[in-house]
Amino acid sequence: MGIIENFKDVLKLADAANNLDLYKKLAELQNSVFGLQEENRELKDQLGRLTDQLSTQQSLKHDGERYWSEKDGKRDGPFCSVCWDVDKKLVRMRGYRTVSGVRDYVCYYCGRHRGKAGG
Ligand SMILES: [Zn+2]
Repeated sequence: MGIIENFKDVLKLADAANNLDLYKKLAELQNSVFGLQEENRELKDQLGRLTDQLSTQQSLKHDGERYWSEKDGKRDGPFCSVCWDVDKKLVRMRGYRTVSGVRDYVCYYCGRHRGKAGG
């Protein structure tokens, strides 16, 4: 039996006993329990997000300029180090050739090239 059904039954009993003080106290207790349930749900959500974030963090390797993800022996990326370090956003960088023909990467989210300021 869930908490809501339990409270309904207990409030019915308090009502049947014709005890208004008991009924009021039980109603307050019910509100407190519902508040705790909501807080618990939010904390679980937060824990889930942090667990995901930690898992991502552990899969990331920094090559000095950007992150690469390594999961199950597969390399993926590169990802912008600024976006991850500051906002915990995993933003894939786009590769391109510079005018001198060198392969470079740019983050379309924050605009950083190779993770360097002004690059
Ligand atoms: Zn970025």
